[in-house]
Amino acid sequence: MVAATPLYNTYNRTPLRFTHGEGAWLTTENGERYLDFAAGVAVNSLGHAHPHLVAALTEQASKVWQLSNLYEIPGQEALGRRLMEATFAEKVFFTNSGAEALECAIKTARRYHFSKGHPEKFHIITFEGAFHGRTIATIAAGGNEKYIEGFGPKAPGFDPVPFGDIEAVKAAITPETAAILVEPVQGEGGIRPAEPEFLRALRQLCDEHGLLLILDEVQCGVGRTGKLFAHEWAGITPDIMAVAKGIGGGFPLGACLATEEAASGMVAGTHGSTYGGNPLAMAVGQAVLDVVLADGFLDHVRDMALLFRQGLASLADRFPDVIAEIRGQGLMLGIKAKGPSADLLTAMRAEHLLGVPAGENVIRLLPPLTVTAEDVREGIARIERAALAVREKDALKTA
Ligand SMILES: *Cc1c(COP(=O)(O)O)cnc(C)c1O
Repeated sequence: MVAATPLYNTYNRTPLRFTHGEGAWLTTENGERYLDFAAGVAVNSLGHAHPHLVAALTEQASKVWQLSNLYEIPGQEALGRRLMEATFAEKVFFTNSGAEALECAIKTARRYHFSKGHPEKFHIITFEGAFHGRTIATIAAGGNEKYIEGFGPKAPGFDPVPFGDIEAVKAAITPETAAILVEPVQGEGGIRPAEPEFLRALRQLCDEHGLLLILDEVQCGVGRTGKLFAHEWAGITPDIMAVAKGIGGGFPLGACLATEEAASGMVAGTHGSTYGGNPLAMAVGQAVLDVVLADGFLDHVRDMALLFRQGLASLADRFPDVIAEIRGQGLMLGIKAKGPSADLLTAMRAEHLLGVPAGENVIRLLPPLTVTAEDVREGIARIERAALAVREKDALKTA
């Protein structure tokens, strides 16, 4: 029996209705509290109702919400400058979402070669298991057939190779290749971190062949792995980078960052967005950076990550029948389940703990970066009870 709904049936929704949140906790309309280690899929980087973000948004709300990009928007300059100072970037284009940040990144790379007199260089090497969004171009870039099927011809110019396979990348480079696009840590694909050597080898290949390196840090960026951006662990910088999710702390905000050279083809009239870079988003983005860039904040992320990882590792030792593997980096962690991961996720939800499904039978754990040691310990205790419930259920099945 399907309940009548005015909404598209595109989502398999869990019947939970949250009405408010605070920090790492969400409360349903029935007053039940859930520990939120989904965080809107790595979006609510500072947890729910962070006072500094609430203040920034409400203050801006009483001034001006949206301005056309026909005019100068000082908030864009200010946030852009801060991103420049904190990263490799020299140029930034603001968007409202991750997919739009990727669209801008793809256009920037293609336009770069076009402006150098090489319109034939529009192919981008991508990786199996990737996720880059749900637009016509980004589903082609992600390469997941389930997302591509039925939407007309697949957008051309994306050449997928196995993730982590540098020889396959080399073999895929042709005179038509413009760029390589990679998530430093695959999120949707199952929390799969790229080896630092692999990222360094990609950087080197790009330099040797005149290709642009595009990083998708929509999920793994903005402090999630314990560095401001995940590629810093590998000691490399990209030419172009897509950012979203955590940078808005829950407000729709994305950004495409680039070096001046990489962005050189994006001249007046080549790209635009009605809402991209609106004053509300700029105010919130700045407030997020106030917190994430403050002294000691990334140390806190790394401390919480260590505590969480140790707790999960000990659960993996004690429940080898339920947990196959712990993976990930920083507060972007995954539990690979032994049985169906949906069973473990359901058992976690019964313990009022939220996680996110991912590929390779993995459950993503993406707590707010502001998570406390007490919250982490509470999360571990709830996962332990969930693992016990799965074990008992499996025992009944085999009995
Ligand atoms: C979520 C995500 C996207 C798409 O972002 P949207 O805001 O949903 O468009 C792109 N890339 C990665 C790595 C993501 O996790």
